[in-house]
Amino acid sequence: VIATGTPERTVVTTCAYCGVGCGFKAELAGDAVLRMVPDKGARANDGHSCVKGRFAYGYATHKDRMLKPMIRKRIEDPWREVSWDEAIGYAASELRRIQSEHGRNAVGAISSSRCTNEEVFLVQKLVRAGFGNNNVDTCARVCHAPTGFGLSRAYGTSAGTQDFKSVDKADVVMVIGANPTDAHPVFAARLKRRLRAGARLIVIDPRRIDLVRSPHVAADQHLALRPGTNVAVLTAMAHVIVTEGLVDEAFVAERCDAGNFESWARFVAEDRHAPEAVAEATGVDPAEVRKAARLYATGGNGAIYYGLGVTEHAQGSTAVMAIANLAMATGNIGRDGVGVNPLRGQNNVQGSCDMGSFPHEFSGYRHVTDDAARETFERMWGVALSSEPGLRIPNMMDEAIEGAFKGLYLQGEDIAQSDPDTKHITAGLKAMECVIVQDLFLNESARYAHVFLPGSSFLEKDGTFTNAERRISRVRKAIEPLAGKADWETTIALAQAMGVSMPYAHPSAIMDEIAATTPTFRGVSYARLDALGSIQWPCNDAAPAGTPIMHVDRFVRGKGQFMLTEYVPTEERVGPRFPLLLTTGRTLSQYNVGAQTRRTANVAWHAEDVVEIHPFDADERGIVDGDLVAVQSRTGEIALPARVSERVQPGVVYTTFHHPITGANVVTTDNSDWATNCPEYKVTAVQVRRTNAL
Ligand code: SF4
Repeated sequence: VIATGTPERTVVTTCAYCGVGCGFKAELAGDAVLRMVPDKGARANDGHSCVKGRFAYGYATHKDRMLKPMIRKRIEDPWREVSWDEAIGYAASELRRIQSEHGRNAVGAISSSRCTNEEVFLVQKLVRAGFGNNNVDTCARVCHAPTGFGLSRAYGTSAGTQDFKSVDKADVVMVIGANPTDAHPVFAARLKRRLRAGARLIVIDPRRIDLVRSPHVAADQHLALRPGTNVAVLTAMAHVIVTEGLVDEAFVAERCDAGNFESWARFVAEDRHAPEAVAEATGVDPAEVRKAARLYATGGNGAIYYGLGVTEHAQGSTAVMAIANLAMATGNIGRDGVGVNPLRGQNNVQGSCDMGSFPHEFSGYRHVTDDAARETFERMWGVALSSEPGLRIPNMMDEAIEGAFKGLYLQGEDIAQSDPDTKHITAGLKAMECVIVQDLFLNESARYAHVFLPGSSFLEKDGTFTNAERRISRVRKAIEPLAGKADWETTIALAQAMGVSMPYAHPSAIMDEIAATTPTFRGVSYARLDALGSIQWPCNDAAPAGTPIMHVDRFVRGKGQFMLTEYVPTEERVGPRFPLLLTTGRTLSQYNVGAQTRRTANVAWHAEDVVEIHPFDADERGIVDGDLVAVQSRTGEIALPARVSERVQPGVVYTTFHHPITGANVVTTDNSDWATNCPEYKVTAVQVRRTNAL
């Protein structure tokens, strides 16, 4: 229902969808949001927005919102509406019962990148201080965990290096495994303005995304590689840069570890890394790789933007390190117009990682074995903390199936739809004795839940989100929580029912604790955010207004570290049974699993997932545009309409993952990144055939 009327008040807040983190003014009459107007004063978007963000308020008051807590003893039983006290009391007693019967490590939690920094911080505190273990993970596990790992190794910090406006000074832009037009539209508009002004563009993507050729923009080069071969292409580019003498020697000598550079240079110079040597595997013309490497290395300011097409691979972390290598070797780091920039999918994926929601790290990326960091939190929280890294999401499911992991608190994350190999996830959830789902809607994971706690939308709470450029922006409460509690209040209630002290009257007090315990947030407070509008971390005494560009004079880790990036082909191979490679992506009007966007006024756009198939492959199978087709992998089968398109190359098919009825993750596999377990969503061997039924 779209409300109409004259605005009575305006609340300045932040979009709850993608990692651009656009600022908005919510205009309200009474408790009804009339419209969302992009905020001209917001530095992430300068008054621009996309179709998703403008209509985001629609899902907040959708009739599907669940507003009553519910419990049931077994997942076969019907839900029973109960009071908040009964639901929280039951959840707390079940978690404590499981721990007393099966041990301290039998429970854990998963936090969400859709929740605020403050809410994520509380969930990891509940786990570490209340559960007494480190079994906390985040949905970043399935998207940008390799970014954190790779950039931290190379540069010493787990974040992008630039602010968005830095692209205005770029001369050569390299977009790898990202489709900003659909997934980060406001940044895409900024990028296209720069390209129209003359910047050169290299796209590395298996699919002909909009940036390759659209009415106003054309890439200088499109390296249409085979899915799963990023590392081979990026290392081949490094080979060209080293063997053709294109290294920025002065930058490397001053800023990078010299011995480490020498061994890396010898490694990439080996003939087996030459573009010609890897052409058969990558499917890319070696001459194009050579041209791209020369353009990036010699074309002026070179800026790299990348997305999940880099991270969601068996070699996701290696590819991130290969990108970091290219930027260091060419001196494209530490000033306006250059840098390495992960385009984060969710609004607060950067923030949820910053807040310590990985099982091995406290807030600020300090390892749980770091005595000084642990003592900081032990002093603040008054409890002894475990130094043993906890379980990642896939390990939680493995241990649940094996009978060792029994209880899970799932805040704002629908793992039954969004995580790979759905059968494995649901088997894990089914095996647990207590699954607590906190969400706006009765999502797919709630099918396996014993306790349902109503969530709150971004309009119903105070807090902060941190976008892809490390920009911390305020989320401000526009209406009271429809179910009576904001998410941060629910976590506090659960913690207190378990005997964990969380004496916060307002999210600003949580931020004060974050600032007191997290060096990169040392100077952040709601007062400073209100005064400055937003702040890019690190924010401390040396940079009280924040840090738009990182690694200016030195890398955070000291000397930049080159990493050897050996290409190892994925185990996911095509063969007679599964001869095509499936890769996935997003559409403009939908966001992730679509739970929110499908309940807004832009629902009419991209109403369903489709599978794109090249005319050659379609002909071979007798498929025409619009046919219902079955997509089958070794893990499962789905059916969806075909779109015959030359956007994909022969041998490759592509789909989006926004609709539960399609269930793209029924077919994705349990292959994952070697370092972080980030799933290999982007490469699945499949067969496609016409079918008659879903
Ligand atoms: Fe901005 Fe992303 Fe929201 Fe669109 S979805 S308005 S680009 S933050």
